[in-house]
Amino acid sequence: MHKFADLIDQHIEELATLDTLNAGKLFSWGKAVDIPSVANTLRYFAGAADKIHGQVLKMSRELHAYTLLEPIGVTLLEPIGVVGHIIPWNFPCTLFFSKVAPSLAAGCTMVVKPAEQTPLSALFFAHLAREAGIPDGVMNVVVGYGATAGAAISAHMDVDKVSFTGSTEVGRKVMQAAALSNLKPVSLELGGKSPVLIFDDADVDKAVDLALLAIFYNKGEVCAAGSRVFVQEGIYDEFVKKLAVKAKEWTVGDPLDPTTRVGPQVNKTQFERVLSYIEHGKREGATLLTGGKPAAETGFYIQPTVFTDVKEDMMISRDEIFGPVMALMKFKTIEEGIKYANNTKYGLASGIVTKSLDIANTVSRSIKAGVVWINCYHGFDIDCPFGGYKMSGFGKDFGMEALHKYLQTKAVVTPIYNSPW
Ligand code: NAD
Repeated sequence: MHKFADLIDQHIEELATLDTLNAGKLFSWGKAVDIPSVANTLRYFAGAADKIHGQVLKMSRELHAYTLLEPIGVTLLEPIGVVGHIIPWNFPCTLFFSKVAPSLAAGCTMVVKPAEQTPLSALFFAHLAREAGIPDGVMNVVVGYGATAGAAISAHMDVDKVSFTGSTEVGRKVMQAAALSNLKPVSLELGGKSPVLIFDDADVDKAVDLALLAIFYNKGEVCAAGSRVFVQEGIYDEFVKKLAVKAKEWTVGDPLDPTTRVGPQVNKTQFERVLSYIEHGKREGATLLTGGKPAAETGFYIQPTVFTDVKEDMMISRDEIFGPVMALMKFKTIEEGIKYANNTKYGLASGIVTKSLDIANTVSRSIKAGVVWINCYHGFDIDCPFGGYKMSGFGKDFGMEALHKYLQTKAVVTPIYNSPW
């Protein structure tokens, strides 16, 4: 695994280029952040591979005196077996290793199916795995469409677990196929409609920057995107004024150009889907503050878009758009802010901007989401478990929790010599 990580480090530019070509992702970001971080994910879990062990159990019969020297109950952790990994197109490298690295460390073999839109970096990883000495058959990459290759993995009788990242709609199908085949366990990392709550005591300039990053990073194609922004009424007008100006700093253009901050949407389907949500927003009566149109005559470029006067029941406030579209709303009290934040079927991520420890503590405990970022956003890290509540799924990627998804516990029990069994 360490050798695999070193090989990735030696090919950072090629890998970043493949994702830019496939998904329109920013080359500069891939080179500086995404690719180096996947090498570190491999190293993190490589370090865990020789620290997988069970526990000494305290049994209920009068035998506990012996347990320290010679345990009568031992738990072993074993690899779960053959894992099927199904991943989406928005972070082809990061999500590949969020699954492959812990399952390799756990001792599993695996079939990885990248999204049909972004197979290139996954194929390159298969090539590097062989060069790193990972035996043939351990890490297999199978490209193909969801309804065929993906469905075959979820329904396969010899696949012992499926780890899926993608939409809530497809996650439901994967779980159903698992239930109808060999009852394999599944873990699901699904969609989101994450809230950002900005309180009256916030530094408005910093809050504006944070809110823009929350939604426009990776052109809004982020499961954790802060797509619903709630601003407390005392700073609302100033916030909106500054946001309209600063949104223009998010320049749209060629993802290979280092000055670009927003690249094209991944493909025509996604481009048209985002534009159709923008039309819905206009029709439903929201006010377009910035953007709202394609940003170029050709290609799948969309202007970073902000709607104000959004109501909770509008489609742009309920549905995951998966593009650079922010729905901005106003709230009065802390309780109201919490209520708005939780008014969604999703529960993936959230953000709070405040200087008050009381507000930060109260709100972070009340939000139903897998992560709460306080005065920051997109604060991902290898050691920090990431995964949803509610219809954003279950099971964590990253952190040691990810390793345990690929292990199963076996209890081995034996009587002690001469014990009255
Ligand atoms: P998608 O659900 O359409 O596809 C994801 C993967 O599933 C692809 O590899 C696809 O080929 C496969 N697939 C499609 N139909 C299938 C089927 N019937 N059986 C098995 N596999 C099938 O999602 P997408 O459009 O590629 O990605 C966007 C979605 O992913 C968004 O909803 C986003 O929020 C979510 N996502 C979640 C996370 C997370 O960590 N929670 C991270 C990234 C993306």
